[in-house]
Amino acid sequence: MLNLSPDMIWIAAGGLLGALIGSFIATAIERWRTVRPIILDRSRCDGCARRLEPFELVPLLSAAALRFRCRTCHAPIKSIHSLIEAAACLIGLLAGVAAPGVHAIAGALLGWQLLALAALDIRHFLLPNALTAGLAITGLVASIAGLGPAPIDSLIGGLAGFGSLWAVKEIYRLIRGREGLGGGDPKLLGGIGCWLGWQALPYILLGASLLALAIAAICLSRDPAFTTERPLPLGAYLALTAFPAWLTIPAMG
Ligand SMILES: [Zn+2]
Repeated sequence: MLNLSPDMIWIAAGGLLGALIGSFIATAIERWRTVRPIILDRSRCDGCARRLEPFELVPLLSAAALRFRCRTCHAPIKSIHSLIEAAACLIGLLAGVAAPGVHAIAGALLGWQLLALAALDIRHFLLPNALTAGLAITGLVASIAGLGPAPIDSLIGGLAGFGSLWAVKEIYRLIRGREGLGGGDPKLLGGIGCWLGWQALPYILLGASLLALAIAAICLSRDPAFTTERPLPLGAYLALTAFPAWLTIPAMG
């Protein structure tokens, strides 16, 4: 008889829920700037617009079983969709591994919000206020519930995260006479500060900067015409640094 420990059940539940949430996030991001409703409309093939059968909507597994192509028109299933599903699944699994129980729910909630923000920033250069505010509020609630840093550290983290990047943004604008940072970036770092506490902010900024440099170096080696004048999705780098940071903070796990 299969004997699953409670920890294994948390990990499996996190992964399953993650794949489902990833599917929702991917659909929401694909349709962000179109009129197609996210929830009411069933998903269609991007090639032939055929309505997908329920079994074709099973995250990850259905796309893999169909070898990432539509059954009828053989158009490739967008890899971004499966990538986001896989990332959300991984976030659920890792949250369960790092901290079984209610801490896992909090960690996965943080990770899924960051994933949605990173994907929106990369795809549309957008960090919607509703999502950055949601990140800050859930972070404060988690800390009050004992699932994060001490509430005072969370509050200072929110203010310091927002304030530091806002100051950088304003100083850059005064010196260079143009925008260097998006308006959403300070709000995102504020939200991250609420979740991780002010103590984590220097590491998040350092990690995001190193990630941005590494990706710029890769882009430059592939495309010599790549210039740093192009806008960088700083928010995505902050978000991609913050979840691994949550995993490594022992107090959270
Ligand atoms: Zn098709």
